[in-house]
Parts: sequence; C-alpha cells; structure tokens
Amino acid sequence: MTDDAVPLRLRLSRDALIANWRWLAARSGAAACGAAVKADGYGLGAAEVVRTLHSVGCRDFFVATWAEAAVLQGVIGDGNLSVLHGVRSADMAAAMVSSARPVLNSIDQVARWREAGSGRPCDVMVDTGMNRLGLTVEQAMSGALSGVTIDTLMSHLACADEDSAMNADQLAAFRAVAAAVPARRVSLANSAGICLGSDYAFDLTRPGLALYGGIPRAEAAGHIGQVAIPEAAVLQVRALRAGDTVGYGATWCAPSDGRLAIINYGYADGYLRSFSDRGGARFEGARLPVIGRVSMDLAALWCGTGPTPLDGQYVAMDFDLGEASGASGLSPYELLTGLSRRAVRIWH
Ligand SMILES: *Cc1c(COP(=O)(O)O)cnc(C)c1O
Repeated sequence: MTDDAVPLRLRLSRDALIANWRWLAARSGAAACGAAVKADGYGLGAAEVVRTLHSVGCRDFFVATWAEAAVLQGVIGDGNLSVLHGVRSADMAAAMVSSARPVLNSIDQVARWREAGSGRPCDVMVDTGMNRLGLTVEQAMSGALSGVTIDTLMSHLACADEDSAMNADQLAAFRAVAAAVPARRVSLANSAGICLGSDYAFDLTRPGLALYGGIPRAEAAGHIGQVAIPEAAVLQVRALRAGDTVGYGATWCAPSDGRLAIINYGYADGYLRSFSDRGGARFEGARLPVIGRVSMDLAALWCGTGPTPLDGQYVAMDFDLGEASGASGLSPYELLTGLSRRAVRIWH
C-alpha cells in the first residue's frame, strides 16, 4: 500500500527526536539519559523510536508492560529494557523468557522475583510521596530488598512540572533510600525532573514527553522541537451559502458564502470533540479552522474564499503540543498517546 492509500498520516521527524534526546542528555550532565517508550513510544511507534535513539547512544528504555517489552525484544540490541509495572504472578512466564528487567513495585513482587527470578537483576521503584507504584521508603530500608540484585533503584516525581516544595522533599527522601540500598545505579528524573537541575539527575534519567516534543517546564522552551504532525486527507470540498449549517447538532453557521473541506480525521483518531470550533489545520500558509463538532472519523475545515485544498490533498493539523493542549484542554501526554492507530507513520 502506498502512503497516500491511507487517508491519515503521521509525519515524524527523526532529527527532532534525536535533537530532543541530545538536549535532555546534555541537561542530564554525567548521568546516562534513557527513554520512556511505553504506550508504543507515546503513540509514535516504539520500535522506530528505540531504533533511532539507540543509533545515537541511548541504552536504557522503559515500557509499562511485558507485551510492550516483547514487541521491542528484537530491536533493543545491547540496550536495557525495564518494565515499569513489575511482575504480577501472571507475568512471570513472559518475564522469564524476556531479557527485560522488571521494576519491582511491592514486597510481593520482590518475593516473587527472589523466588523465581533465578538471581537475575531487577530494578526497584520506591515511592517517595506520589503514592502510585513502589515500595514505601520504610519497606525499602527495612532489609526487604536483601537477596535481590538491583540494577536500577528508582523513584518518580509527582510535581516536577511545577515549582512545588514536594520536589525537594522527594529528592531528600530518595537520597536517603539511595544511600541505604545497594544498587548499580539510581534514577529519579523524568522530562520535567531533568529541567529541575543536576541534583535530580543521579546516574540515569528517564525522559518521555520531552523526547516527543512536549515542553515539560519553561526551561525546555526553545530547546525541544515538534516531532509529530498528523496530516489528514481532504475527502470532499463543499460550496456553502451564508447561513448554511455544518455537522452534528448544526452548531456552526456559515457567516458568508465560502468553501468547506471535510477531512479524514475524527475523535476515533484521537482528535477528540474538545477540538470542535478550536482546532485547526494549515494549507498553503493559511490556517483553516475546525468548525462545528468533530465527528467520529471526520472533521470540517472552513476555507471561506481563501486557499482551499483539492479532494485527495492532505492538510497538516495544528499539533504544536503546547498550543493544541491549550486549545483542547487535553494534556500533551493525552494528545500523543491518543494518536490514531489508523494513521500510517512516516519517518523522515
Ligand atoms: C512515564 C514515566 C517516565 C517519563 O515521564 P515523562 O513525564 O513523560 O518524561 C519516567 N519514569 C516513570 C516511572 C514513568 O512512568
């Protein structure tokens, strides 16, 4: 199938992905810089993200589940792969045939790995205040981890994207755990945590969002570039008369005579209805606003009497993550991970 046989494309910039990783690696100082590639590389396609970042020196990759790890087994090469959700008993069979390491999150998971993991190294998550996954600080320091070989001891910041007092509290708690629990490496910072400064970098950083073009904090603005741009095919161009209405609920009414382009992009593609009357696309330098309600597989662009694409041409959606997030109320994480499985991914 040729690329234009698919009416929705995701244009992906290898250069931007690499430049983003290099900036994060430089900001990580002496620490190694890894990559969170869970949720299929935040929707971009994990295998290609791993291949690309491995080629420039990234060696530490993080997924959520064993199914995600299995997909990457053939492309990880000499890289490390960590499974953030650890091992449920139902995961042990997959874990034993994988070269990935579990990130153990509870006393039960530690016991499970100690019994069945045959001495293989693991990673361990310690919860320093987020109350999501991980052993408590007390559990980690109680000797419960003796007898397991820890590669990477980690914790996760709850508020790194804000100037919250919680960042320093978590840093102090993690330092205490890191001093008490033997591990080959320790790791705390996600994308936003890298921006907090070198105190947070430890031995290994774990950016996700900023690799893919999200600006986690002001420090990253101007340094992180857009990686993904959805391009939708125009399926039909209509001539409207002033007063004609468009779409479900007939919520939009043409202010004048003009042209309307119907595009192959809707909420089933992750273009949620919160973009109704707020999103937009680019065509020949003009901004074409999304008008009326976004449908499941379609949306409408108002061209008025300006530049109008022809049937079959593609328009580039406005997908700067900061602006699209502001327009839609969706987080940049939701915008990326919602990107359609129906879109053909085209790397440049
Ligand atoms: C997802 C995740 C990351 C990456 O976070 P970003 O905010 O996307 O940089 C790092 N560490 C853990 C434990 C995660 O779950």
